[in-house]
Amino acid sequence: MNPYSPAVGIDLGTTFSVIARLDDTGRPESIVNAEGDRTTPSVALFESGQAVVGKEALKAISTDASSIALCAKRDMGHKVFHQALENKQYPPEVIEAFILNKLRQDAVAQIGKFSKVVITVPAYFDEVRRKATQDAGYMAGFEVLDIINEPTAAALAYGYQAGLLGKETAQENVLVYDLGGGTFDVTIMRIGGHDFTTLATDGDVQLGGYDWDQRLLDMVAEKFVQDFYLDPREDICARGKLWRECEDAKRTLSARQKATITCDFKGFSKRVEITREEFEQMTQDLLDRTRFTTTQTLQAAGLQWSDISRILLVGGSSRMPAVREMLRQVTGQEPDASSAADEAVAWGAAIHAGNLLALHAGNTPSFAIRNVNSHSLGVIGTDPATRLPRVGVLIPRNSKLPVAVRRTFRTQKMNQKSILVQIVEGESSSPENCTFIGSCKVRPLPPMLPAGTQIIVTFRYEPDGRLRVSVAIPSINTAITEEFTRENNLPKTLLDGWRQYISGESPTDYQ
Ligand code: AMP
Repeated sequence: MNPYSPAVGIDLGTTFSVIARLDDTGRPESIVNAEGDRTTPSVALFESGQAVVGKEALKAISTDASSIALCAKRDMGHKVFHQALENKQYPPEVIEAFILNKLRQDAVAQIGKFSKVVITVPAYFDEVRRKATQDAGYMAGFEVLDIINEPTAAALAYGYQAGLLGKETAQENVLVYDLGGGTFDVTIMRIGGHDFTTLATDGDVQLGGYDWDQRLLDMVAEKFVQDFYLDPREDICARGKLWRECEDAKRTLSARQKATITCDFKGFSKRVEITREEFEQMTQDLLDRTRFTTTQTLQAAGLQWSDISRILLVGGSSRMPAVREMLRQVTGQEPDASSAADEAVAWGAAIHAGNLLALHAGNTPSFAIRNVNSHSLGVIGTDPATRLPRVGVLIPRNSKLPVAVRRTFRTQKMNQKSILVQIVEGESSSPENCTFIGSCKVRPLPPMLPAGTQIIVTFRYEPDGRLRVSVAIPSINTAITEEFTRENNLPKTLLDGWRQYISGESPTDYQ
C-alpha cells in the first residue's frame, strides 16, 4: 500500500470524535490527540474567529458558554447553528470542519501528512446531512474518500475483531443498536466474510445521551427554582456547568446505584441525590422510543428475533444498564458489549478506508458493503382530487443501493422555458412533514417544444446514500442543463474559502 496514504477513518460524533488508522499489519487503532486522549470532545470554543476544539473548549463551558458550540452535529442540514458564537452565525458544517481540522492536525503530528479519509454518518442521516458531512471534511482539508454509516462501520469492526473479515464464513444477521451522544441508529445487517449487507435501518437524529442529560438538568433546575426562585437554566454559563455535572452523574449511575448533583448559582447552592431507579423512571419514554424503533426495524427486515444471532451495542449511551436490560427483555438475548463502544465506529471507518485504498490501487478488496436508503425519496406534485401539494414516492426507504428511478414529466404549454422538480425525503405524503432536499431546475428548455413533451428525470442514490439527478429529453438531441440546487448546503466558492481559512489547504476539484 502507498505509505503516503494511510487508511484513516473518523467517527465524527455529536459529543465525542475519534480518528483511527490501520497499522502496518492492517489492525485498526485510535490515534491519540494532542492531549494524549483517544477521544476528542466535539466541542468548539470560538476566540477571534478561530476555534479551540476538544477538552479545553469543554472546560470553558462554565465561563464562556456563549462562545462554545456543543452538539453541532445535531444542527447539520440547517443553514446556521442555533446559537450565535461571538455574535456570528456559523453553518453547522463549518463548526464540524473546525473539529475535523483539530483531529487532522493532531493525527498529522503522530503519523505524518495525509489527506484521504472515510468519515462516518448516522445511518439515519438524510441526503442534506450527508452532503454537509462531506463538505465539513473538505473544509477541514481532507479528501473524503467516502462516508459510511456508523452501524456498518461498527459491524466491520466487529467482523475484524471476530476474525470474520475477508474469510469464507456462514452468513449471520446482526442487529446494531447505536445510541450515541446525539443520535440513535438501529440497523440490521447480514454479514458473511466478504459481504456486509444492510437489510433495514431506522433511527432518530434528535435522540441521544444528551437528552438523558437534559432530563437530569431539568429535574435539578426545577428543584433549585422551588428553593431559591432562581432558574440556573436562564444563564448560559450556569446551564453549561450544570449540564457537565449532570452528564457526569449519568455516567456514575451506569456504575453505581446513586449519584449526587450540585448546582451553584448566584451564591446559592443545592445538592440533589438521585438513584438509578429514579433516573430510569424519568427517562423511560426516551428508552421506549429506542425500543419501538428497534422492533420496527426487525419487522422492516422481515425477520424474527430468533433470526438475529448477535446484538451489537455501539455508542457511549449503550453503557446505560437500562439499555441492556431493555434489549435483553425485547430480544431474549444477551447484548454484545465486547466492542470498544467509543472507538469501534472509527475503527470500522479505517477498515473501510483500507479497503477503498486497496481498490484504488488495483487490488481486490477483501469485502463489499451493501447499503439501503434510510428515507424514502419523493417529488412534490399536486393531488388531482384536492389540488393540494402531495409527495409522490419514487424510491421507498430500505431499497438496496445503488438504485435509480426514472420519472417522466411533461411540459404543460408550448414553448415552456423550464421545469422545476422539488425533491424531498421522508415518509409522509405531506411535503411539510418531509425534509426538503432541493430543487432541480431544468432550463433553459429548447425553444418551441410542443406542450406535452416528455422530460425524463433520473434520480439515483449512490452507495453512500448521496443523490444524483440527471435529465434527458428523448424527442430532441439537445444538451440541456439541469441545476440541482440543494437546500441549506454551502456553495463551492464558500467551501473553498472556508477550506483555506480553517485548514490552510488550497481548493481542489470537488463534487
Ligand atoms: P458517543 O457519541 O458514542 O461517544 O457517545 C457519547 C454519549 O455516551 C454521551 O452522551 C455520554 O454521556 C454517553 N456515555 C458515555 N459513557 C457513558 C456511561 N458510562 N454511561 C452512560 N452514558 C455514557
